[in-house]
This record gives sequence, structure tokens and C-alpha cells, in this order.
Amino acid sequence: MCSVLQIAVLTLVFCSVRSFTIQVCLSNTIDDDEFSVSTLIEKANANIGKDENDPKLMFGDIVVHTGLRNADPCTARDCMWPKSSDGDVNVPYRISNQYSQRERAIIIEGLRSFSRSTCIRFIPWENQTDFVDIQSDRGCYSYVGRIGGGQVLSLQRSGCVYHHVIQHELLHALGFNHEQTRSDRDEHVRIAWENIMCGQEHNFEKVQESRNLDTRYDYGSVMHYGRYSFSRNREPTIVPIPDPDVCIGTARQMSPIDILRMAQQNNSFIL
Ligand SMILES: [Zn+2]
Repeated sequence: MCSVLQIAVLTLVFCSVRSFTIQVCLSNTIDDDEFSVSTLIEKANANIGKDENDPKLMFGDIVVHTGLRNADPCTARDCMWPKSSDGDVNVPYRISNQYSQRERAIIIEGLRSFSRSTCIRFIPWENQTDFVDIQSDRGCYSYVGRIGGGQVLSLQRSGCVYHHVIQHELLHALGFNHEQTRSDRDEHVRIAWENIMCGQEHNFEKVQESRNLDTRYDYGSVMHYGRYSFSRNREPTIVPIPDPDVCIGTARQMSPIDILRMAQQNNSFIL
């Protein structure tokens, strides 16, 4: 089911919608940005780190694992979820009973959205060793890739239970980093360091040797932060180049390239 043919089909789909993935933003103020994935995450995570029991985060919402920093934790270890013989990648999940029925339904819809367009199948946990443990902890966060055992993916009830935030955190758990931390990002965006809040500069470091999976830089990725992320003065911190008016970080769902990357990733490792 999940094969080279699927990549070919996805590539065709991607090419046919390509003209829609880069769009000029008609309004691009900080107030227009309040529902972007990064604004929601930044708000929900604003107070994380003040308590010693808080998770240690980098890049805004990625849990630091085994002290790896400024390296792609996912290429430094075996972080892929295993592929089954039919080509699907089954990822067990458990959802905490902290959520209301409505919130639970939104989360399940987020999980199911992957099976509609990718080889990823989130399946209810049945005592498998490795699984994604979805909880309402403080803030929205995830590890990058499979870390072994039950790994917490936090979707705080107030602030994180949105379709695009759910897809974003699940993509982290599948091994993906933020688009603007790609090794080639300086060809596509300029980081306006002078506008970044003091002490938040680390969120804009690049991931060395990032796995770009033969896909172009994608302003429309649900993994791309918005232009006002961690701004100290309501001025942009991420500016697209050469055209500063291109929309960034406004995705409300996975982009065609996000979907293509999952197929490329799935095809890149051997059964
Ligand atoms: Zn993130």
C-alpha cells in the first residue's frame, strides 16, 4: 500500500497544488497571527521552565532527550517507528482520561487525519512497549521520534487541543523538526535576531544535518513557525526571502509537502 507508487502519486498531487502553497499574505500583522500553530504553542508554554519538575524544552515545544542539543536527535539514534510487513507504520497511542468527550474527539480526528493521507496508522495501545502517551500536562510538547517506552505528548486542555497543534506535535513524535530549523533555512528566511526576546535565541538555532528528505523548503508546512514567534517588540522574527510578503506559519493542517515527507521517510528505511 505504501510504496514508491504512492510517492509518485503524492508528487503529482504536490505538483498540482504547488501554486497554492506559496501565497502572498494580504494581512500580515501580529494580530492576524494569533491562531498560528506557533503562537498557540508559545502562549501555552509561556510559563514552562519555572518549576523544576517542568519538562526541559528546546525550539519552543520539543522535549530535550539525553542531553542532545543542536544535533538532530532523530538521526543520532534509532528513532523511527517500525514499519510492518504491509508497509504501514503502526504507532500505538493512549489518550488520558483527563479530556472531555469533545476534546477526545478532536484528538482522535487528528490521529485519524494521518491515515487518510499517509502510511502512518495510530492504533490504540494494547500493551506494546513503545507508545505515544497523550496527556494534558503543562503546555504543548513532544519528543522528536520514538524514544522507547511510553513517551508523553502533552496537549494541555486549555490551549493545545486544536487540529493543527495536534498534527504538529504528532509530527514531532514521528521524527520531524520545525521547518525553520532546516540546515538550508537561511536561503529561504532571514532570522531577525534583533527582534527576538532575550534568552529565546536558542529557539532559532538550526538542526545540523537535518533530514530534508529531498523536499523543498515549505513556508506552508504545519511545522513552520509564524513570523512573530518569540518577538520582543511585535516586529517579525522570521522574514521570508526574497519575498517578505509570503505567508509563513499560517497552516491550519498538514501541507502536501508534510504529507510527501512522511512517504519519503517511510520509504527511506528498510523493513
Ligand atoms: Zn514544535
